[in-house]
Amino acid sequence: MTELTYEKLLQNEVKTFEDLKNEIINGNKCCACGACIAYCESQGFDVIEMKGYNPEFKSERSVENCTKCGVCYYICPQTKVLLKELNEIYCIEDNIGKIVKILAAKAINTVLEKVGQDGGVVSAILTYLFEKHKIDAAIVSEFDRNFKPVPKIIFDKEDLFKSAGTRYSISPQIFPLKNLYTIPKEILIKKEIFDIDELRIAFIGTPCQCRAVNKMKFLHVKPAHVIKYIIGLFCFENFIYDKLYDILKREIEVVPTNIKKTWIKKNFFIQTKDNKEFEIDMKTLNPAVRNNCHECDEFTGRFTDISVGASGAPEGYSMILIRTDNGKNVINSMLSKGIIEQFIVPSNRTIEWKNKKLDWYNKLISLKIRNQTNMN
Ligand SMILES: Cc1cc2nc3c(=O)[nH]c(=O)nc-3n(C[C@H](O)[C@H](O)[C@H](O)COP(=O)(O)OP(=O)(O)OC[C@H]3O[C@@H](n4cnc5c(N)ncnc54)[C@H](O)[C@@H]3O)c2cc1C
Ligand code: SF4
Ligand code: SF4
Ligand code: SF4
Repeated sequence: MTELTYEKLLQNEVKTFEDLKNEIINGNKCCACGACIAYCESQGFDVIEMKGYNPEFKSERSVENCTKCGVCYYICPQTKVLLKELNEIYCIEDNIGKIVKILAAKAINTVLEKVGQDGGVVSAILTYLFEKHKIDAAIVSEFDRNFKPVPKIIFDKEDLFKSAGTRYSISPQIFPLKNLYTIPKEILIKKEIFDIDELRIAFIGTPCQCRAVNKMKFLHVKPAHVIKYIIGLFCFENFIYDKLYDILKREIEVVPTNIKKTWIKKNFFIQTKDNKEFEIDMKTLNPAVRNNCHECDEFTGRFTDISVGASGAPEGYSMILIRTDNGKNVINSMLSKGIIEQFIVPSNRTIEWKNKKLDWYNKLISLKIRNQTNMN
């Protein structure tokens, strides 16, 4: 692989936040991951901030603070730079990406299984990593009383229960890293961390967000250096919060404060706090789909240690795609310790079973790409 460093990138004409604004943000292609701001703010440059779900200059004066370093442009998951290099590192040759092992499993912990979106596997992985002292923190997505996702760095496995389950709108998962260097001292002392750069974080996010983390790691830029595990969620599309809940209010008269759980199984399902269930045709929600998702060719998250999703999984289980040795060690250890239970496929059917899943994922990605062609 050609050695590409940030220094080499800088030998070309450097693209800056102005270019990011023109090409990605104003072009409605931003996925609101927060990577650009996390980097810039963690360096103390005081230039950009998130306004709503859009990165913007903080003020006219802050434009002058921009060092034109270009890092925000290069780490943005929506720019084309560095993708060739990432594909080489991850040995990606097709739409699904490299898979070391594919299996279906569910959490044995009945509470996690109950609160989890599918098999509770993501929360079980995080619990395991905390319990085995392999991480000090995790970036998860909690939600407020309006069912609006709130990205958060948590330091305690007990907090995982507040993040389990899926909220189908943007949670800017990389954004909290902007505060890495201002994490309160008492938390670090409790964790026995004396040098913040030694913190070990597990990251949970959608495929586009995992791509951004990998671009940051590839360029060795802080603050992604503290991320040790990347766990991706399958993602076919995501929704604009306001538009999604406007449609739900109009169609079924359910307001976000009354929602207990949402899930997608061909159609969109809602369970309210008084345990009523509603089903909405996915087509009804089309106007709420984020524009950047219309141009996305990822589904199972190519740039992850472990990808987890429901598609193709037996009822109550999650599908797990292991992509790296890092991911393999975690899942194998969890299986051997009985933390997750694998769905058993008869040995004479394993190859057929695996191929069927891969065919299905390829079909879904092709459908995504075909929809984009039809829209253009
Ligand atoms: C926007 C979105 C779209 C998805 N689309 C699909 C799909 O089309 N097909 C499919 O098979 N699976 C999809 N998933 C993944 C699926 O909903 C589950 O997250 C996955 O199966 C893991 O289930 P679990 O029970 O193991 O997770 P749990 O143990 O319940 O943990 C869920 C994790 O998801 C995180 N999370 C919740 N909401 C968000 C959010 N908005 N953004 C980022 N992280 C979040 C939480 O922090 C938590 O750590 C999607 C997820 C998201 C967030
Ligand atoms: S200082 Fe660098 S990272 Fe910050 S906005 Fe300017 S170009 Fe982007
Ligand atoms: S880095 Fe993320 S938040 Fe920033 S412009 Fe790109 S997609 Fe948007
Ligand atoms: S569909 Fe693609 S762009 Fe949209 S949230 Fe999911 S991974 Fe990101």
